[in-house]
Amino acid sequence: MLIARALLDELIAHAREEAPNECCGVVAVEFDRSTAPPSQAAVGSAAVDPALRAVSPGGSARAARVHRTVNTAASPLKFEVDGKELLRVIDAIERDGRELGAIYHSHTRTAPYPSQTDINFAANWPGVEWIIVGLAGGEDAEVRSYLIEEGQVVEVAIEETAM
Ligand SMILES: [Zn+2]
Repeated sequence: MLIARALLDELIAHAREEAPNECCGVVAVEFDRSTAPPSQAAVGSAAVDPALRAVSPGGSARAARVHRTVNTAASPLKFEVDGKELLRVIDAIERDGRELGAIYHSHTRTAPYPSQTDINFAANWPGVEWIIVGLAGGEDAEVRSYLIEEGQVVEVAIEETAM
């Protein structure tokens, strides 16, 4: 997805605040109007699973807002989100006319690559990007994004924009 430097910095700041525990949250996205809108049929299927539109070819998702959530596990090794909180955040995103584009969390001790736990969790969120903020490298945080479909992990680009 396209993401402004300021939002990327928000993700990194959240990760640093929660360290050594993992942080977590979601990124709301908007779609560039310059790209062709999905056909009516596609909109219909997106209503069933709005996340699927996040990866529809030709639509370029642009991060619009970072929504922090609480890691109820409060652990350096994993994160958990309260289901009610997640639903509340997704409602807020939809009220803003946006879509759930990514779920993010941090890895404070390991490389920013999805763990088996992440892969299992992601099975519930098809089409949603999986952003990991890696802090293990020291000063420079490493932010990566993946699509995880049926247990297959594919890294996707994070294109940083000025605004
Ligand atoms: Zn993880």
